[in-house]
Amino acid sequence: MTRPVRVRFAPSPTGMLHIGGARTALFNWAYARRHGGQFLLRIEDTDPERSTREYERAILEGLRWLGLDWDEGPDVGGPHGPYRQSERFERYRAAARELLDAGRAYLCFCSSERLDEVRKGQEERKERIAYDRHCLTLDPATAQARVAAGEKAVVRFKTPAGQTRFLDHIRGDVSFENAEVDDWVMLRSDGSPTYNFCVVVDDVDMRITHVFRGEEHLVNTPKQVLLYRALGLEAPEFGHLPLMLGTDGKKLSKRTGDTALQDYRDAGYPRDAVVNFLCLQGWALDGATEVFGVKELVERFDIKDVQKAGAIFDLDKFRWLAGEYVRRMTPEALADACAPFVVAANLTSAEDLAARRAWFVEVVKSEQARIHVYSELPPRIAYLFQPDDAVVWTDEPLAAVRKHANAAQTLVDFRAWLAPRIERGVDAAELRDSSKKWAQEKGLKLPAFFQPVRLALSGVVQGADLFDVMALLGPERVLVRLERGAARLSS
Ligand code: GLU
Repeated sequence: MTRPVRVRFAPSPTGMLHIGGARTALFNWAYARRHGGQFLLRIEDTDPERSTREYERAILEGLRWLGLDWDEGPDVGGPHGPYRQSERFERYRAAARELLDAGRAYLCFCSSERLDEVRKGQEERKERIAYDRHCLTLDPATAQARVAAGEKAVVRFKTPAGQTRFLDHIRGDVSFENAEVDDWVMLRSDGSPTYNFCVVVDDVDMRITHVFRGEEHLVNTPKQVLLYRALGLEAPEFGHLPLMLGTDGKKLSKRTGDTALQDYRDAGYPRDAVVNFLCLQGWALDGATEVFGVKELVERFDIKDVQKAGAIFDLDKFRWLAGEYVRRMTPEALADACAPFVVAANLTSAEDLAARRAWFVEVVKSEQARIHVYSELPPRIAYLFQPDDAVVWTDEPLAAVRKHANAAQTLVDFRAWLAPRIERGVDAAELRDSSKKWAQEKGLKLPAFFQPVRLALSGVVQGADLFDVMALLGPERVLVRLERGAARLSS
């Protein structure tokens, strides 16, 4: 009988949720959901110096934002808790005691000075750096008596001789010589547990069946597998997810793109685009479909299909993908998503946007084809919120407009022609046709007409369709801006 799938995400709360951690969580979650199993969240906060509850909260919030839910965890509880390692120290000490009693671990009294000397000697002789097993031969009863008398000791794992294999669903069968594994420390002399030790004790207690985590942990797996064997247990199945690399082929860093999930959220990447992009970091739906959601992920995800080679985190592609999602949103939903960004950019208040919602939806619609992430909207629509006599003109469009002779006069003439026509309101399509005709009849090339008008209305030379801009401003403001624009150009 096969055991029900139980997987976990085990972040250390020493920073914001990393984009690589978010992918690890997503793949574990998808695997659990696909197999009707359970997804656990465990907080690995054994390092009291670097772990904080704020980071823990931020990580949970990031996971929830991604749409992930967990069946057991520090906030929801469960039958195998506690789910914070800092609350499990008694359990680790008991486990260490059992291993000592079983002769699978031993007490080591070596001072750090002695260990340094051993290391130095090994370095000089170009030998493998490892503990020289000085304390292995101590009589256990004597060692216990020394500890009872107050002497400091660490607990070391007694690495057995031989060769060991484990199954990795991504990397295939992995085998290693046990001799390559040091007699590593499980409990430090202050009684605090080390990472490799806690992980195994917890994964055993929490009945974890599959361990999917970043490739950077592959170096730890031999130690962990040997510990399972020492405990007389079958190791879980492993899958080490490929590293996420920047487009320069190097480890993801701030230089090639933000590394915290939060940064993408703050920049206004649509949530579903983030999830979609994370799916593509080492996995593909069918090799052709790029835009898909969690539904497809859960239906199709198999750990065996995850690639071994590094996953390239291509920010341009991410932005493109975000744009695809922006395009697919209803203008209403996009308006809701963008509103906080418009407010944060100090263009106006949330109340104002709510009061003019129908108008704001039209504003958003005018840019929906051009933006990729929500934060791109505010600078593009800032002109709508500027006073009509102080539209911000940037140098570049002004220089372009100055190349057209009589630009100021064009504005004056166009305004005179337009005034009686737009009193009834702006019908963008109708106005587009008739104004083009007007410009042609005046013998104006289209740029010589469009560029000054656009500058006067919005201060930029590119952006939303000019006649949409007019509709958004409304007849009065259009006429005022044309007039002020003409005056500014001729001064
Ligand atoms: N706490 C480890 C980390 O944040 C994960 C350990 C594991 O998944 O085994 O990288």
